[in-house]
Amino acid sequence: MLIDGHGRTVNYLRVSVTERCNFRCQYCMPEKPFSWVPKENLLSFEELFLFIKAAMDEGVDKIRITGGEPLLREDLDTFIKMINDHNPDVDLAMTTNGFLLPEAAPRLKAAGLKRLNISLDSLKPDIAAKIAQKDVLSHVLAGIDKALEVGLKVKINMVPLKGINDEEIIDILDYCRQKGMKVRFIEYMENRHADESLKGMHGKEILSKIKEKYTIRALGREGASPSFNYIIEENGYEFGLIDPHKHDFCESCNRIRLTAEGFLIPCLYFDEAMSIAEHVKKGDVEAASQVLAKVLKDKPKENRWIEGEMEEGQEVSSRAFYETGG
Ligand code: SAM
Ligand code: SF4
Repeated sequence: MLIDGHGRTVNYLRVSVTERCNFRCQYCMPEKPFSWVPKENLLSFEELFLFIKAAMDEGVDKIRITGGEPLLREDLDTFIKMINDHNPDVDLAMTTNGFLLPEAAPRLKAAGLKRLNISLDSLKPDIAAKIAQKDVLSHVLAGIDKALEVGLKVKINMVPLKGINDEEIIDILDYCRQKGMKVRFIEYMENRHADESLKGMHGKEILSKIKEKYTIRALGREGASPSFNYIIEENGYEFGLIDPHKHDFCESCNRIRLTAEGFLIPCLYFDEAMSIAEHVKKGDVEAASQVLAKVLKDKPKENRWIEGEMEEGQEVSSRAFYETGG
């Protein structure tokens, strides 16, 4: 079993397979193109799997593939199959922007993927294009339909932004309810790579919008999930709110992140990371496990996103979401 320096059991590994992306979401990536990590610096699936296998043998039973956009990495279904073949009981999920899903969903399902989280910030083509900086909506909606059709469990992630998609919270909620998918509203997390002019909505504001149409009741957190669940009294639909500015899920944090270059990241907010790249390239699993032990020992107690408006001079997380996979 993996235990961190604060006594928390870590059983959840998020693996970013690439930091590249076919979108440029305003809240995640800089507007101007920038240089990507050279392809030769990326760990191969075999190298990533060497570490993942060791982590699974130590008690990791929940794995999420993420990115950047994970579907940009060739042969992703082979990688998924490697993990699933090692332990078919592992809760194997992926987070994607959905653009490439119409073609990929059947292969992913056949390889053993169980669940998908798909990002959907708007049901309006022009707003979706403004956020992703590309005309994406029809592909994403077709991707959602394909994933449901092949029998993948789907959750939707939406990041509400003031003056951009904040009037669509109820539309997205109703769309997800009609399709039998859970939606999770994620508070915008300020970071240095995002468009500076963006204003996120805090959890209370998101809930107020929903209360304009529905009566809601708090259900609470599901285990170690960062999502706080609510139920709509009128129709029994359950949705989630991820509010990292509150930190209250940090005390049950069960996760660790591995980037495509082989950095182990103990907390989404902080820059701290340690590399296992050299070790897995040499096939030295023992040395990689020692790095993991050190990272777990030093895992921070909580993130530093604060409630309320950002103040001038206040520290902003420099962590890039497209590297860590959110
Ligand atoms: N490209 C995939 C996608 O968009 O679903 C996976 C990677 S993306 C970094 C993972 C999740 O992080 C997405 O649901 C995205 O909305 C969320 N995300 C990215 N930047 C964020 C930010 N600044 N605040 C809150 N959520 C963010
Ligand atoms: Fe790409 Fe996902 Fe970041 Fe959007 S949120 S730019 S889709 S990695």
